[in-house]
Amino acid sequence: MLDPIRTQSNIAPTAHVREAETMRVSRATFDEVMFQTYVPAQFVPLRASGSRIWDTEGKDYVDLAGGVAVLSLGHCHPALNAALKAQADRMWHSSNYMTNEPALRFAKKLTEATFADRVFPCNSGTEANEGALKTARKYASTRHGDKKFRIISTTNSFHGRTWLAVSTGGSPKYTKGMGPVPAGITHVPYNDVDALRAVMDDDVACIILEPMQGEGGMFPGSAAFLGAARELCDKHKALLIFDEIQSGVGRTGALFSYMQKGVTPDILTSAKGIGGGFPIGCFITTDEIASVMQPGTHGTTYGGNPLGAAVAETVLDIVNNEAFLKRVLVSEQRLRDGFAAINKRHNIFKDVRGEGLWLGCELVDKYDNRAGEFMKAGHRNQVVFLTAGNNNILRFAPALNITDADIDHGLERTERAIVEVVNA
Ligand SMILES: *Cc1c(COP(=O)(O)O)cnc(C)c1O
Repeated sequence: MLDPIRTQSNIAPTAHVREAETMRVSRATFDEVMFQTYVPAQFVPLRASGSRIWDTEGKDYVDLAGGVAVLSLGHCHPALNAALKAQADRMWHSSNYMTNEPALRFAKKLTEATFADRVFPCNSGTEANEGALKTARKYASTRHGDKKFRIISTTNSFHGRTWLAVSTGGSPKYTKGMGPVPAGITHVPYNDVDALRAVMDDDVACIILEPMQGEGGMFPGSAAFLGAARELCDKHKALLIFDEIQSGVGRTGALFSYMQKGVTPDILTSAKGIGGGFPIGCFITTDEIASVMQPGTHGTTYGGNPLGAAVAETVLDIVNNEAFLKRVLVSEQRLRDGFAAINKRHNIFKDVRGEGLWLGCELVDKYDNRAGEFMKAGHRNQVVFLTAGNNNILRFAPALNITDADIDHGLERTERAIVEVVNA
């Protein structure tokens, strides 16, 4: 058995040599042939290992972004590579006309580790939320009648990119020009208990919340707010959905964030970290709620496919371990200490907040709306981190097993990037 904490990718940097290519492509190719919905970094990553990335020029980068909180075990973790390769030699796809062993093992382990009795595996976070919201509405209409369909969400929340997900999410900019969008959704400010109370009634089917708002600005959910959501759902026979797509799978130092918050949802959605880089998601719930979803009610071609399930099962084996989760909090402290030291020298952050290895550094007013400049300076200084909120936050979500040395190198390079912007 691999040591869950100390095991890192064993691909040596010397293996990162350029291979023969059939076609020359570069960053400029992106601007030629891709939808311009993203503005990716100027370098093109070629290989990666642990918390390091090498680009096509052979330059190395410290990865403090973890592929946006996806790479729970870093790049190319040996146990995940082994699980994926072994499954690739066994079977790739079975379809929903047959089940498969990795999916069954994954679901069994996930239900044993959580409040849930049942798992619906899918392919992404958006799809998990879509299924969770459909389940909540189906449950409400089945048990209480067709009038009970309202969805309560929060402003600045992020729940994915389908129509239902962007409508539920709290950023109007993501639905602009794409209407009409699904009806029956109400938004209240995050962590505002009174606003939440004011919009609740018996026609509400569900409340959907991130236990900590990530994209929206790295705001941990308060005990009062999450507790009120639970209480109001119970009172009005609505379901509480926790979107743990970014907060789950060890990110906050617990297997799922709800376990630390002391509030148990009725439905939980997971993706990102659960696959450690392989696209898989799921929503999980109780027997009682899942019982309204009958054969034919919902489906997906690739959900629970053996490759993804084999990887996710292995991620769970490693992350659902007390010592591993404790170590996340130790690394959090090391990062926080590093940010405090940087701030002492440069007075650049007005707040550092977050939970576990999921931290946001809010820039002082002078650099409002300029987080993207710091991110680009990071790339020039060979470190990758993210932004959040109103382009005023530097967001960090490294691999949960990042080494102390990589944290320290990442911080050094982050500080150099900050100095570059400050002195520009
Ligand atoms: C990333 C994310 C999603 C969407 O997941 P995809 O896999 O991109 O579809 C939904 N909710 C939260 C909180 C997320 O962070």
